[in-house]
Amino acid sequence: HNVYAAQWSANGGALGSTDLTLPGASVFGENVFSTAVQRERLPKGAFKALQAALAEGTGLDAGLADTVAQAMREWAMEKGATHYTHWFQPLTNLTAEKHDGFFEPVGDGTAMAEFSGKELIQGEPDASSFPTGGLRVTFEARGYTAWDPTSPAFVMPNPNGALLCIPTAFVSWTGEALDHKIPLLRSMDALSNAGIKALQLLGETDASRIYTTVGPEQEYFLIDEQYYFERPDLYTTGRTLFGAQPPKGQELDEHYFGSIPERVLAYMMEVEEELSKLGIPIKTRHNEVAPAQYELAPIFENSNISSDHQQLTMQVLQNVARKYGLICLLHEKPFAGVNGSGKHNNWAMGTDTGHNLLAPGDTPETNAQFLFFCAAVIKAVKKHQALLRASVANVGQDHRLGANEAPPAIISIFLGKELENAFEMIATGKGTGVKKGLMGLGTDVLPQLPKDGGDRNRTSPFAFTGNRFEFRAVGSSMSLGFVNTVLNTITAESLDELTGQLSKELKTAKGDIFKAVSAVVKEVWAADKEICFDGNGYSEAWHKEAEKRGLYNLPTTPDALPWIINKQTVDTFKKYKVLSKRELESRYEVFVEQYSSKLNIEAETTATMARTMILPAALRQAELLRHAGSGPGLTRLSEELAALTEELIDGIFVLEKANDHDGPDGGVKHATYMRDTVIPAMTTVRSAADRLERIVADDFWPIPKYSEMLFIK
Ligand code: ADP
Ligand code: MG
Repeated sequence: HNVYAAQWSANGGALGSTDLTLPGASVFGENVFSTAVQRERLPKGAFKALQAALAEGTGLDAGLADTVAQAMREWAMEKGATHYTHWFQPLTNLTAEKHDGFFEPVGDGTAMAEFSGKELIQGEPDASSFPTGGLRVTFEARGYTAWDPTSPAFVMPNPNGALLCIPTAFVSWTGEALDHKIPLLRSMDALSNAGIKALQLLGETDASRIYTTVGPEQEYFLIDEQYYFERPDLYTTGRTLFGAQPPKGQELDEHYFGSIPERVLAYMMEVEEELSKLGIPIKTRHNEVAPAQYELAPIFENSNISSDHQQLTMQVLQNVARKYGLICLLHEKPFAGVNGSGKHNNWAMGTDTGHNLLAPGDTPETNAQFLFFCAAVIKAVKKHQALLRASVANVGQDHRLGANEAPPAIISIFLGKELENAFEMIATGKGTGVKKGLMGLGTDVLPQLPKDGGDRNRTSPFAFTGNRFEFRAVGSSMSLGFVNTVLNTITAESLDELTGQLSKELKTAKGDIFKAVSAVVKEVWAADKEICFDGNGYSEAWHKEAEKRGLYNLPTTPDALPWIINKQTVDTFKKYKVLSKRELESRYEVFVEQYSSKLNIEAETTATMARTMILPAALRQAELLRHAGSGPGLTRLSEELAALTEELIDGIFVLEKANDHDGPDGGVKHATYMRDTVIPAMTTVRSAADRLERIVADDFWPIPKYSEMLFIK
């Protein structure tokens, strides 16, 4: 791949073009082997050669690689690093690292610090236990990690020996992508190539590269670690499998944007400082809707770096929490009955000349461009709506999407009144709220466009928010890699198609860009406007309306995942060389497998906790009642307890049987079985347990309650 440095990259990018005062600004980038550090540390010739190789996307020769490696090692060791790792993103939403020491024996009984160019560029982790979905058979378990020089190396501090992390891609020996980074990079290339062709026709000829940009808003919960360790469900599955609703819930709405508790604030400030050192620019923090829920948002960066930084952000959020006696929960739905957590993926396309292609501009030319790029997104989302839904499917998301707190499982686009009217007007010559003729564009062909964020719609899964689209259906625990790979690839495809159309229309319109763009936009609107919806996405009426419009409603993961290997998906991804059929199949297999095995763990945990913690509490309560003597009230209590206890016991047996089952042929059939048989069995057990929680003596109840976990800060 070629250029990822330049404008929108780590340190010169979004941040370089603004002068924000960030928290932790004085330490910003301190732990990053940034371009500035490279300039300072490398011999002049080597620095220039490295930058040139990056810009042209060519490899480094062995000599240069050695020079860079040495400078990197010396810099890292000064920061306390003793080991290095190739840091990569297998298909698990987590990152992986294998630590190697810098010191190597030199034969005379002493050791010398060594780190060669070869070690920098390529690694071979023993990678046989990462999920590969059949891409790598175990006897040929080799996978390679390859340096991604466009994402800067960094040092992860640790008082007992820091770690130099080298962002890498992870490939099989046959060259197939085993990670989330490679396809993302490929998709960025695809989009850039397609978009640049469009820009040429649209008259913007200075740009030579388009970067997709992402600013993810991360939601998370914080609870006291004492409670966490008392709950096997939380520490084995990340969510509570039991827990009655507390008397005081979310309905008071007092938490959202409320003042932040002191311990939490101290935690947030340390998180921001650590992220700042890693070159991650954090911009906002606040309380979220649910009690104990918070959010943090960085300033956007190019998709590749943003995705790397997002992985680091999740890690730092979790690490720092421990210092404050807190646990950071990134699960999509840690607590039933209160809002879950998502990750809003703010996404746009920007040129290397610093122009955001999704921002309506000041001139007719930029507005024509904007409408063209916006139309391409509408077309792409309409065509690949089911795939987009699949790209955010996981077991946690099934509790969240469509549950009146998060976008529905139906993908639609919110454009806002002004923009929707603009499209409508171009298409029909009619529109409301937009004055035809004025438009401030020097032409009456294109209407005036919204200059600010316009109205907001919190219920839409894919909303235009002034200068970007916000994909709100992403889950809080997810890597940004796959979602953005999908977004970029489908947009590349539609840009390509619309560019073809534009070039024809330009001929018809004798070179009049406005007329030609209008004609293209008109066609997109006529064909695809059904995907646009500005009403309440949570409402029952929308579900009916969406069905009438023929939009896909894929409520659960097993419904959605098959779209990853649907023919339409395979064709598009193959055409743009982002993922081959085999690579798509491998992802599909891995995601299906993750769904089933996570449910299997949840089911086992539910059964075990019910049998060994909750049932004994109920039996102790029965004992207590027996000791209390007799009387009509006591008899009533005993009967109530006995009935619920029986319900719990029955539920446990049904669940254990349901889960003790290999399932029909594995794969999506098994996943469907887990969804239809095992989940209901878990729900039955929980329902009995949650009612028991309300009648069993508080000091018998073996696990912390929702009210403790959510309200003690
Ligand atoms: P809100 O809560 O209103 O959605 P926030 O300020 O919390 O807004 O988050 C907005 C996010 O959108 C930030 O991460 C910001 O960097 C990101 N963003 C802004 N402009 C762009 C852009 N051009 N491309 C990608 N992300 C962007
Ligand atoms: Mg948002």
